[in-house]
Amino acid sequence: MTVSPAVRLREDACPGALQTHAAADGALARVRVPGGLLTAAQLRVLADAARDLGDSALELTSRGNVQLRGLAGGAERDLGTRLAAAGLLPSPTHERVRNVLASTLTGRAGGHVDIRPWVAALDAGLCADPAAAALPGRYLATLDDGRGDVAGLGGDVGLLALGPDDVALTLAGADSGLRARTADAVVLALAATLAFLDERAAQGGTAWRLAELDDGPERVVARLRAAREDVVPADGRVPVPPARATGPVGAEAQADGCTALVAVVPLGRLRAEQADLLAGLAGEVQLTPWRSVVVPDLAEDRVDDAAVDLYRSGMVFDADSPWTRVTACAGRPGCAKSLADVRADAAAAVAGGTLPAGGERQHWAGCARRCGRPRGEVVDVVATGTGYRIGKA
Ligand code: SF4
Repeated sequence: MTVSPAVRLREDACPGALQTHAAADGALARVRVPGGLLTAAQLRVLADAARDLGDSALELTSRGNVQLRGLAGGAERDLGTRLAAAGLLPSPTHERVRNVLASTLTGRAGGHVDIRPWVAALDAGLCADPAAAALPGRYLATLDDGRGDVAGLGGDVGLLALGPDDVALTLAGADSGLRARTADAVVLALAATLAFLDERAAQGGTAWRLAELDDGPERVVARLRAAREDVVPADGRVPVPPARATGPVGAEAQADGCTALVAVVPLGRLRAEQADLLAGLAGEVQLTPWRSVVVPDLAEDRVDDAAVDLYRSGMVFDADSPWTRVTACAGRPGCAKSLADVRADAAAAVAGGTLPAGGERQHWAGCARRCGRPRGEVVDVVATGTGYRIGKA
């Protein structure tokens, strides 16, 4: 099959922690958080940085990363020093390519395998290879422990556990047919990542995604098979679970008897004091692609108090809340292109019960670019200067 390649005339310009984006409200820094996994100490460092250097909030992205906005000129150096000391910047040359999504609650509830070691190994492997620094900032790896929550979220390279010791390699969101044992899976994913770069070089250009290359997945498979005798395709292909509109919300029972709380953060804007609160509840949190935060490992006698504190701070535990269905771009005043303060307008519509399209899953945007639009079926609510245009793409 031939995929029409997109012609990219320039390298991608995804922001990083050091290579910031000049927004209307100051510099914007994006900090990669592989697997969305943050220790409490790291979360506190991010909260302090947002307070001291930015606009006192952390933005949660659809890739489980974190953004700081409103940075003054020159704040990148201070931010970089803080992040490096906290282990959030293991390689300055690779900071933008550490885009790794991992199954929510992995190792604690559900799934065939605990893939937290995969996250660490894949991240370390990427950072250790100088060639991987050439990956585009749009590159995405999805590590799915078998529950099917992130495999459909558009990864260039992915691992999908089919059983406790049987893993499928996914390429551009589909089963490649290649299989690995659990212990060998990250090595295969790293090899596929480098094969993407080799194929991109062979085809010329600066493709941002594997799907943009001519027959990208097929050619990556051919390269892997040529390089490794042990790489043999399976007889059939498995369907990759489609992207989920929402993740878990509320209390989840862990296998060890503890409880994890999953709190939705409205519009993904986590205030510094909310981050401090989260950091005080657990030794580690997990950010999800649905702009929620997992607070794991809570003993039974702590669950209610933790939920009340988080709820009072503005986080959401109701799976039916409209906040689980509403997303928005930065809008005014953060983006100079925006025709409206979309976040304020979306919040007012939620509060007033006046969401358009009957409250269906919707993305509010300040212009037609619709930055941050989630995958799947979504109603677009796009500012026009005189109101909003509502419709499905
Ligand atoms: S969708 Fe438009 S207004 Fe919103 S952040 Fe993107 S460019 Fe700015």
